[in-house]
Amino acid sequence: MAYDENNIFAKILRGELPCDKVFEDDWALAFTDIQPQAPIHILVIPKGAYVSMDDFSVNASADEIAGFFRAVGTVARDAGATQDGYRMLANHGRDARQEVPHFHVHVFGGRDLGGMVKRA
Ligand code: 5GP
Repeated sequence: MAYDENNIFAKILRGELPCDKVFEDDWALAFTDIQPQAPIHILVIPKGAYVSMDDFSVNASADEIAGFFRAVGTVARDAGATQDGYRMLANHGRDARQEVPHFHVHVFGGRDLGGMVKRA
């Protein structure tokens, strides 16, 4: 699947749409989810143009991957979620119901998050 330069997160990265930014460095941008599903619900996205985890894991450089996942950890720590716990989640493709085709990791926390995956 080709990267769509007009996806919502690409527009946020270019500053064409606003976001509630909580973190930014050379590798990643993090902002609160517009429809939070937990007291802490932050989206962390790489600066590079990757459709999903599959694209990112194949095509991103080692520096991009390290920088991105360090940023995810920093975001969770800065949100105060490390002590009580948090969940990180990335949806890839149809079965995971990925909505936005720019790779992103959700960071959830601030309450008991329940079981791992919704039963069918
Ligand atoms: P996905 O299903 O692709 O993993 O999740 C996409 C997430 O992006 C959803 O949780 C949705 O609420 C969030 N989202 C969609 N559009 C926007 C937006 O314009 N701004 C922000 N902050 N979040 C968005």
